[in-house]
Amino acid sequence: MVEKACKQCGRIIEEGNECVVCKTKDLTTTFKGILIIFDASESEIAKISGKNVPGKYAVKVIK
Ligand SMILES: [Zn+2]
Repeated sequence: MVEKACKQCGRIIEEGNECVVCKTKDLTTTFKGILIIFDASESEIAKISGKNVPGKYAVKVIK
């Protein structure tokens, strides 16, 4: 299955057609890079990027 990324938050969606974070169906297959957040409260990347749910995110979503 092709991975999709949420256009709202960049979350990588591996199953289904809905973002598990913001529940939107606004997904895209055009994104660049993947960043993985394990512990949002301890992660500098999470703070910088504004992600607060652990998981895989696209570095850049092409809208
Ligand atoms: Zn989302």
